Amino acid sequence: MTLEHGQLIYEGKAKRIFQTEQDERVLIEFKNDATAFNALKRSELEGKGRVNCHISAYLFEVLESQGVPTHYLFQAADCWMVAQRVEIIPLEVVIRNIATGSLCKQTPIEQGEELLPPLLDFYYKDDNLGDPLLTEARLEKLGLISLKKRLEIEDLAFRVNILLKTFLKKLDLILVDFKLEFGINKDDQILVSDEISPDTCRIWDQRVANPEDRILDKDRFRADLGGVVQAYGEVLKRIQGACAKPRTCS
Ligand code: UDP
Repeated sequence: MTLEHGQLIYEGKAKRIFQTEQDERVLIEFKNDATAFNALKRSELEGKGRVNCHISAYLFEVLESQGVPTHYLFQAADCWMVAQRVEIIPLEVVIRNIATGSLCKQTPIEQGEELLPPLLDFYYKDDNLGDPLLTEARLEKLGLISLKKRLEIEDLAFRVNILLKTFLKKLDLILVDFKLEFGINKDDQILVSDEISPDTCRIWDQRVANPEDRILDKDRFRADLGGVVQAYGEVLKRIQGACAKPRTCS
């Protein structure tokens, strides 16, 4: 289903952002395109946009219900979400509960080690530069955000981690790590933005012991394990079993 929308504002790897009749609102379309390794690997996965839009809507509502400000307003259709218009801060904020991925490629930390307390990393969001990991000094030098806003972002990211980890745990889903993006709205408020889905989170099935079979996230695509959309669908099915449907109007 394609919705009536205004002009395209921005097209990313997994989403398109459109204007709406209200200046402070945007329509977000979740695409079926899948990319990994800075878009060196690409594919189209039928049904991915729908599943990710639904999962994101549910998870944003979980966060909102616990007082975490997000850009999400409501789900408009299967692949479409209405959100507050924000200016995205060009930072990827990654929280890790279990060591894997780039952390284990770049450090001697063992794959699967539990990270207590969780680790927070900032990356500079720039495809041309390959989203480099930032040091504290580089983050300060870039001057993207004030110290106050940075502390607010860190605090929000850790809160999101506790809320999502606890919520998913009840569904026998392990939140390994995830990436958040933050935006600033017209009132200068910091909001959790972008999406929260198996494209941006690592999620393992606690009911499955085999290390490959338990993967329910984009690592299935990265490692050519197959069954990507089915795995995302399993995450959605468990969430749907625990929540009321996402709201469809504001
Ligand atoms: N991630 C993301 N977008 C990115 C980079 C990472 O959503 O551009 C997510 C990724 O899916 C994982 C977490 O952030 O849930 C940590 O990713 P990592 O740094 O391990 O990167 P990798 O090299 O494994 O993609």
